[in-house]
Amino acid sequence: MRNVIIIGSGCAGNTAAIYTARANLKPLVVEGNQPGGQLSITSLVENYPGFPEGIDGPVLVENMKKQAQSFGAEYITGSVIEVDFSRRPFRLNIEGEWMEARRVIIASGASARWLGLESEQKLIGRGVSSCATCDGFFFRGKKIMVVGGGDSAMEEANFLTRFGEKVTIVHRREEFRASKIMLERARKNPKIEWITNAVVDDIFDVQKGLVTGVLLRDVKTGKRWEVPVDGLFLAIGHVPNTAVFRGHIELDADGYIISKGGARTSVPGVFHAGDVQDRVYRQAITAAAAGCRAAIEVERSLQEEDCSPA
Ligand code: NAP
Repeated sequence: MRNVIIIGSGCAGNTAAIYTARANLKPLVVEGNQPGGQLSITSLVENYPGFPEGIDGPVLVENMKKQAQSFGAEYITGSVIEVDFSRRPFRLNIEGEWMEARRVIIASGASARWLGLESEQKLIGRGVSSCATCDGFFFRGKKIMVVGGGDSAMEEANFLTRFGEKVTIVHRREEFRASKIMLERARKNPKIEWITNAVVDDIFDVQKGLVTGVLLRDVKTGKRWEVPVDGLFLAIGHVPNTAVFRGHIELDADGYIISKGGARTSVPGVFHAGDVQDRVYRQAITAAAAGCRAAIEVERSLQEEDCSPA
């Protein structure tokens, strides 16, 4: 039986691993579908304190993992596919193998949101992507479209201008959710074009097995028109990775873990850390801080249990 199993290996999970490993709790980290979490698919991170020149996301998160391992944290690949939080010790099914843990930290993060079009799902990896850092390279000299109006859309569009002939941002409203600085940076980029008040209704060409264009719809007039593009990048936010916990801990309507104060979930002994609970800040540094908080709560609750009379 493990003292603590940490689910997820992004900033939150890795930081929880560093702290619990240094507390000699020998944590086990289940890496999940996307080892390293969101940082593993970002480019330069300029706002993580301590790196005046910025640092590449994948490097930052890999360094965190190495740091945790140096204190004795263990990592396993794979995902948690089932949980039993109804009794102690807790039980987690990791890729078919049940393991027991005295405490659990859920740091499973959030994954990219898709539009939900049939054509989109069929063309993922064939011109449709949610990760500019991963796939931008394939669109050298091509026409690229980015959907979204937040910081991710601005960041991805700017990044993609390194490769594309032009990059068109399509956003469903007139106003942008992106921060001023990110929006300004994109506005100043001469390779970026803008289409507002529009949504993607369809993506072509499923039959050819590659993206050749999209069907846009003006949300105000209802007018539809086709735009030729070679690559379509979705940057429309994220959904929390909590499907496996539904019915076992309290989640809100969108699937985010409901916090019971500090890092506590509705099940005593099961803690949350990072984007899986945080729909407001969602930064590398806030996720790391949440991982630290969860680890300290785990450490204290184990100490209390070990010191309490049997
Ligand atoms: P976000 O802020 O939630 O923005 C999502 C965007 O997608 C919104 O503009 C939203 O439109 C649009 N959208 C959502 N669903 C849509 C749909 N079905 N069809 C069309 N458009 C849709 O997500 P994000 O940009 O990924 O940012 C998440 C967090 O990470 C934020 O806190 C952000 O500041 C942070 N972040 C920071 C950096 C950085 O500082 N370097 C980089 C990336 C992200 P509406 O506005 O109309 O809702």
